[in-house]
Order: sequence, then structure tokens, then C-alpha cells
Amino acid sequence: MKRAFLILSLAGVLLSHMPGTAFAKKIQVVSTIGMISDIAGEVGGDRVEVRGLMGPGVDPHLYKATESDVNKLAKADIILYNGLNLEAKMERVFQQMRRSKKTVAVCENIAGSKLLDSINYPGHFDPHVWFDVTLWTAAVDEVTRTLIEFDPDGGEYYRQRADIYRERLAELHHYVTGRAGEVPPEQRVLITAHDAFRYFGRQYGFEVKGLQGMSTEAEAGTRDVIELANFIVARRIKAIFVESSVPERNIRAVQDAVRAQGWDVVVGGELFSDAMGNAGTVEGTYIGMVTHNIDTIVDALK
Ligand SMILES: [Zn+2]
Repeated sequence: MKRAFLILSLAGVLLSHMPGTAFAKKIQVVSTIGMISDIAGEVGGDRVEVRGLMGPGVDPHLYKATESDVNKLAKADIILYNGLNLEAKMERVFQQMRRSKKTVAVCENIAGSKLLDSINYPGHFDPHVWFDVTLWTAAVDEVTRTLIEFDPDGGEYYRQRADIYRERLAELHHYVTGRAGEVPPEQRVLITAHDAFRYFGRQYGFEVKGLQGMSTEAEAGTRDVIELANFIVARRIKAIFVESSVPERNIRAVQDAVRAQGWDVVVGGELFSDAMGNAGTVEGTYIGMVTHNIDTIVDALK
């Protein structure tokens, strides 16, 4: 009996160290936003199991860790989050986790010269890096480095997968650039519920205005609505956009204020800003979400 147990345990130990077998213990990765979970899955492949804390429609600026999140984080091998103050209400949990496990903010090693300053929080950077597809590859590098550090045996596997993913992102960047070019420069004005698209604007040549500023924490006031409405009327802007992770009412208020001045602006569709779409749909992946956004923006503005 004892012997059988010993053999079984030994088999378990052996199997858990063999990559690619069904019995192997996968590296447990817990990440915050879907865009980072996506990278971890693409690069980590069969060697990792990824759990995302923030699903579709969830706003990371306001998100507080639940008890079940803290349990997941405590059981993780690796914790990945965006950083740059995106997950503002979870910062303390990450500090705590950092003492006992690999906890990595995937955007915090990007050179400050490549980042945009925060409008709302002096001394901070704008956290919405994923909307510049080329800059987001820095997060891919960081996730890859982290996985290799934790699991050196998988080094070659991770590097290969990361290369394939980077190639797909290069194609995506090319696609977004091409579609953006379909809108005449003077019509390239993107108006959304909050200021998530400044990296997008810088990279793809759009003037960007968000009603609520860079974090959704600050509520838009009546004056913000009126100022934005005046801007839309003066520039004769055709479409404005709602976001999946921000309530629609503010953008609808802007639309009403514009119409009251006799100019008709349409809501050009829903963009995925700080959260991806539902799992199992095209928009439930980073590449799908970016493609959806650029198609929605260009089709409404051109
Ligand atoms: Zn945001």
C-alpha cells in the first residue's frame, strides 16, 4: 500500500515536470484586464492557465478586488496587471502580493519618453497603452520575459509563440493604419465617453476628445457636456461613440445638447475601450477588439 502510494506520488512529480502532457501542472497566471490575459494565453499556450479578473464591460479604473479575487491572486504563480495607475483601487493588493510572488505591471518598464502624461493626475502617465498596437508589443515583451524567468524550460516555446503573436500584431497595426487613412484628415476627430484613446490618436492621426477625462472616476459635469457639444457643432462632427465599459448616459447627453443647437450627430457605435467583448466572440480578443474599433470609427466618420 505504502509502496503503491510512493510510486503514484513519484509518477505525479514526474508528470508535473513534463510539459505538454495532460497531467502536467500548468503555471497559474492571474491577470486584470482582458487585453493582458490575451497576451498571457497567446504566449503561454499549453503551459499556462490564465484567469482574468475583469470581464466584458468591467471598468478597471473603479474595480475593487473581491474576496474571491484575492483568493485567486493568492493561489497564482504569476500576477500580471497593467500598472500606470489603471487598476487604481487594487494597487495595495498588488503591493501585498509582490512580497510573496511574481507580480508584474506590464506597462511600467516602458520608457517615459514613449508614454503620454496623464491629464487628470499630474506626475502620472496615461495608462491606456493598448490602443497603440506597436507600443503594446512592449507588454508582450514583458509577459514573455516574466514567463521565461518563472519557467526557463519553456523559454524556446514562449519565444516562438511571442514571435508569432508579434507578427500578427504587426499585421493588425498595418490594417489599422490603412483603415484610418480612409478618413480625410480634417474629419479624423474621435469623441468618446472617456479619454482612453489618446495613444490611438497619436499613432493613427486622430484628434481625440473624451467627455470624462482619463479616469472614469471624475464625473462629467454640465459644463463639460456643453463645451463638447459646442465643439461638435463648430467642427460639424458626424459621429460620437459610446464605450462598452462606461455608462451610455453621458454620451447621450452630449448628443441631446448637440441636437438642441440644430446639428445632428449620430452615435456611431460602441467601442471597446478598457474591456474586451464577450469570451468566444471576435471582440473577446485583443486583435478582434482593435479591429472592431477601427472599423466602427472609420465607417461612422468617413
Ligand atoms: Zn480608461
